[in-house]
Amino acid sequence: MSRNHRRHDVVVVGARAAGAATALLLARLGHDVVLVDRATFPADTLSTHQIARTGVVQLHRWGLLQPVLDSGAPAIRQVTFTANGESMTRRIKERAGVDLLVAPRRYILDAILADSARAEGVEVRLGSTITGVCIDDAGRATGVYGRNNAGAPLRIDARFVVGADGLRSRVARAVGAALIEDRGDAGAVQYAYYAGLPWSGIELIVADRALTGVFPTHDGQACIWVCSPSEQARAARRQATSREDAFTNELSRTAPELAERLRAGQRTSAVTGMLRTPNFVRAAHGPGWALVGDAGYHRDAVTGHGLSDAYRDAELLATALDETLRGETDESSALGGYQRRRDQALRSIFDLTCSLAGYPPVAEFVDLQKQLSVAIDIEATEAAARQFPANRQLIRD
Ligand SMILES: Cc1cc2nc3c(=O)[nH]c(=O)nc-3n(C[C@H](O)[C@H](O)[C@H](O)COP(=O)(O)OP(=O)(O)OC[C@H]3O[C@@H](n4cnc5c(N)ncnc54)[C@H](O)[C@@H]3O)c2cc1C
Repeated sequence: MSRNHRRHDVVVVGARAAGAATALLLARLGHDVVLVDRATFPADTLSTHQIARTGVVQLHRWGLLQPVLDSGAPAIRQVTFTANGESMTRRIKERAGVDLLVAPRRYILDAILADSARAEGVEVRLGSTITGVCIDDAGRATGVYGRNNAGAPLRIDARFVVGADGLRSRVARAVGAALIEDRGDAGAVQYAYYAGLPWSGIELIVADRALTGVFPTHDGQACIWVCSPSEQARAARRQATSREDAFTNELSRTAPELAERLRAGQRTSAVTGMLRTPNFVRAAHGPGWALVGDAGYHRDAVTGHGLSDAYRDAELLATALDETLRGETDESSALGGYQRRRDQALRSIFDLTCSLAGYPPVAEFVDLQKQLSVAIDIEATEAAARQFPANRQLIRD
């Protein structure tokens, strides 16, 4: 068995948005961190990838927005919103220190974060699947075990185990993290990439029981997606001969003008997506463990907010772990504070997401979108003002 005899400060399972950010920030705070993922990067994942202003603010504060733009992700300067046949285009205003949005491919974005964590001294172990959490006689998590891609067993001991392993978190299951809120899973999202057309910015098109959109991304391509009630997405699939035909039919119904434009371009990927998207909150901590990102809180993709949530909670968790690892605050107060701050921070956008994922009539849906835009501005301003532990560096010189 490959066993690190050193007992690390923290082992983080899952090396994408939540995990890589948590590891990076903990390393900047001076802690000894191992970051594990079963994937070998660069690797794509199931997700569209517009980062809301809050997430862009986080990347900017951490010094990672420029590397993301340097990777070729286009700076997005405008959003066009269409409802009831009327379109309105707005330039992205300067707020909370950023004046652009960005929608980078995940295989590029997540690798930038994981590489930055490695550059800060994090031991990154890709191609390693964690199958369980070591629990001592007192019920405390003390490390993780699993195997690497070659099948060799591994075990990593640490003072804290962080589950950043996504929606179907193995860590959450192993420690028995309680489900504290379950709001169902009635929404679907499907998407594909298109090339060969000019993209002017983000487009959002509201139709009866659907939101369709365009996210310009790397290589001159755009992610084209449709969010709708699950039952509708399933029925569309049943009625078509292939997933691709079902998607094209849905596009023609929900955004006919966009569907017409896409005929002049090429679809460059298969159609993929999630036909049932859960909305839940899990307990965020217990003895020796914490959850961050989708592992602890999942919401429908209709608001495109998961990356921003993951980045916010990564910073809240890194700050709490730092306090307790330094002995400044006892573990249950520090991690209890993390859960409290997370639960307060997610509330307004989680409620709006669940309402939007219920696909009310168009006028109500549009009103909820306006409320969402206000909530994101408030959240982004709070993120820009958040204090990182005093006298520590959020960005390396
Ligand atoms: C269809 C869809 C569209 C979306 N669109 C958007 C959007 O436009 N904007 C937005 O902000 N958010 C969007 N989201 C949400 C966003 O993708 C997630 O919120 C985000 O990926 C959460 O990051 P995470 O790091 O918590 O988890 P993940 O990105 O799921 O990463 C978890 C990692 O853990 C690893 N892992 C899992 N189990 C193990 C194990 N046992 N051992 C080792 N490693 C393990 C996985 O390999 C993975 O790399 C969308 C989601 C979906 C499903």
